[in-house]
Amino acid sequence: MFRKDFPYFQNSKTVYLDNGATTQKPKSVIDSQVEYYEQYCSNTHRSNFGHANKATSEFEKTRKLLKEFINASKNEEIIFTKGVTESINFIASSYAIDFKTVIISSLEHHSNIVPWHMQNRTLGAGLEVVNCNENLDFDLEHFEELLKANPNAFVSITHVSNAFGKVHDVKTITKLAHKYGAVVMIDAAQSLAHFKVDIQELDVDFYAISGHKTFAPTGVGAIYIKEKYLKNIKPYQTGGATIHEVDYSGSILLDSPYKFEAGTQNIAGVIGFGKALEYINHVRYENIQSLENKVFKYLNEELSKLPGIIFYNDLTNCVGSRSFNFKGIIHDDIGILLDKMQIAVRVGHHCAQPIMKKLGIRGTIRVSTAFYNDYVDVDKLIEALKKALSMLKD
Ligand code: PMP
Repeated sequence: MFRKDFPYFQNSKTVYLDNGATTQKPKSVIDSQVEYYEQYCSNTHRSNFGHANKATSEFEKTRKLLKEFINASKNEEIIFTKGVTESINFIASSYAIDFKTVIISSLEHHSNIVPWHMQNRTLGAGLEVVNCNENLDFDLEHFEELLKANPNAFVSITHVSNAFGKVHDVKTITKLAHKYGAVVMIDAAQSLAHFKVDIQELDVDFYAISGHKTFAPTGVGAIYIKEKYLKNIKPYQTGGATIHEVDYSGSILLDSPYKFEAGTQNIAGVIGFGKALEYINHVRYENIQSLENKVFKYLNEELSKLPGIIFYNDLTNCVGSRSFNFKGIIHDDIGILLDKMQIAVRVGHHCAQPIMKKLGIRGTIRVSTAFYNDYVDVDKLIEALKKALSMLKD
């Protein structure tokens, strides 16, 4: 029903099932990029002529939209970044740097592991990892033990696993963490394309958002920072547009969000991000969820019928991504054959090597859906998988 809003599907015969890597963009988002560059291309928050003012107001419109979209309290709590990777690196290298312990989950993307290693934290020495069970569920009891043993920790956990689609119960995790004086950051790269988020309800302290995984252009994202932290957090980069006053003896920074947004921003990207949010509001999460759930369930049913398939988790608390292997078959080989049949999926470790190692595998075949995928996409995938399997078994 909404597929027609995405030019990619008119231009390509590829069955696109790699939404966990990036989503397709609706026409309104694409048009906004051309419009900015062709009609009012100017810098923001600097010059004071008509087009510059329009660029600034369109840019700030996205901030307000995102604030309302996630139900943050203030526009100042929304800081634009390149994406989740930059959002996490920002907080890791500023506010979180002095924390004695950082606690992460077993299902983290490298973007929420490597920044901590860069601070010389290793397992048991400044970094703790919460166990998961054989269905990849977060072990709340182990989490509580870690919180007790490491009071006032910094907890940084993904909302949804990009590799296995597992959704963490962020509300419960945050409540428990706060009980032990911990501060909570959530990697939301895989959330907003699939379900509504209410920051007040989750009560997290930091929430890292990716635009390109939410139907917006690449190279744009945001970090939500709860108001009470804004004053004391130091920017991790400074420069033009962050400054109230400078002389050779010192600098006085502006307040949030500007002190955190150094240099010329991805103006077109931020404007496009606003259009993506407007688009989701137009489609509505109820529709996104009902369309997606049906196809995701069907995908799972059809995959389950394939001989030798190995899943690593069931569908409980699972959204967007389904990961699997076939007994005796190398996942890369499936990827090569699917590509030849114009089926786009991701094969490999999905930037989540530690959990792959824990499962004793090098990687998986990951099918990741969005609300515009339909039963036909699943049928084409299954047919291609059957062909690939028969070729590889010969
Ligand atoms: N975390 C997770 C769970 C992800 O899936 C990704 C993207 N694959 C990232 C972080 C990095 O996000 P971005 O591309 O916005 O930097």
